[in-house]
Amino acid sequence: MSRKYNFYAGPATLPLPVLEQIREEIVDFKNMGMSIIETSHRSKEYEEVHNDAASLIKELLGVPDNYQVLFLGGGATLQFSMVPMNLLKGERSCDIVLSGSWAKKAYSDAKKLGKVNVLFNGEDKSFTVLPDPAGVKPGNGSSYVHITSNETIQGVQWKDFPDTGDVPLVADMSSDIMSRPIPVEKFGLIYAGAQKNMAPAGLTVVIIRDDLVERSPDDLTAYLSYKVHAEKNSLYNTPPVFCIYVLKLVMEWVKKQGGISAMEELSKKRASVIYKAIEESDGFYRCPVDPSYRSDMNVVFRLSTEELEKKFIQEAAGKEMIGLKGHRSVGGCRASIYNAMPIEGAERLVEFMKEFSRKNR
Ligand SMILES: *Cc1c(COP(=O)(O)O)cnc(C)c1O
Repeated sequence: MSRKYNFYAGPATLPLPVLEQIREEIVDFKNMGMSIIETSHRSKEYEEVHNDAASLIKELLGVPDNYQVLFLGGGATLQFSMVPMNLLKGERSCDIVLSGSWAKKAYSDAKKLGKVNVLFNGEDKSFTVLPDPAGVKPGNGSSYVHITSNETIQGVQWKDFPDTGDVPLVADMSSDIMSRPIPVEKFGLIYAGAQKNMAPAGLTVVIIRDDLVERSPDDLTAYLSYKVHAEKNSLYNTPPVFCIYVLKLVMEWVKKQGGISAMEELSKKRASVIYKAIEESDGFYRCPVDPSYRSDMNVVFRLSTEELEKKFIQEAAGKEMIGLKGHRSVGGCRASIYNAMPIEGAERLVEFMKEFSRKNR
């Protein structure tokens, strides 16, 4: 078997030991005589997996007791609607930091549901910068402040988070959750599509503070209400059981590697070798992002022409490095280096980058 180095932004690479364990268990889970994805979501075997997955998230991230972990469907995209539907109260407004493509999508949906105030807009700088967290202050009558901790497409990442006082801070952490310690207590709600750093596509993890669960309006339909999911331990309807099972295995893997601080150390290592290669390339490669906000998860870079970028991506694929094409909306190259990317993948990429620049200068 030969596994490629997979730099796709999502769905993304998963730890090999996890894939092997899935293969081992998929036909017969713990002598049940059936698979975990065939059993009822009300069975005691599934319930254990479900609860363990949530407990592991709490343990690894140090989630305080007054928060709940919810498992939902609909991707991070559904949260662009659910957050305003549940948290935006009547005539009040919410605040948003427009940091990149994902924040723009969150903004576009929130606007359809209520008043949205833009605190910062990075668009005129092509989303290469972020605001100083100390300057991010909620507006008058704000229900919450929304940020995107890591912009997967533009490769910008918050290094510190704003302090929004009594106004809940809400974060889309789809592409960097579990990659570094986060002060969960600073946030009212955190959500993340699982397919970047945690599990296969089809699951969204929501971490929500108890008092915000109480905000869900009673006239919301059931699936759209955080309160309904929280009261039923994310078993109001059939949850994405396969994803939650894999999530549990990935969380066990993270724990075995040394937890979130070990993940952070590795992610800084991976990112720094690639950024260093860019900086030392004498302009052959160029990262447009302000060095203070460069993402440790998605490294975006350009070459001098689109033809050269195409050639780079093609030749890398010939050397078992897949998924280096930038998002179709922005072009260029992007190396997504999530938790499951071994350091060897980053080193191999850097080796190739050096060789390619020598040959094509
Ligand atoms: C991938 C991504 C999304 C969209 O997730 P879906 O699961 O496809 O809805 C939203 N926000 C960020 C930051 C992402 O990286």
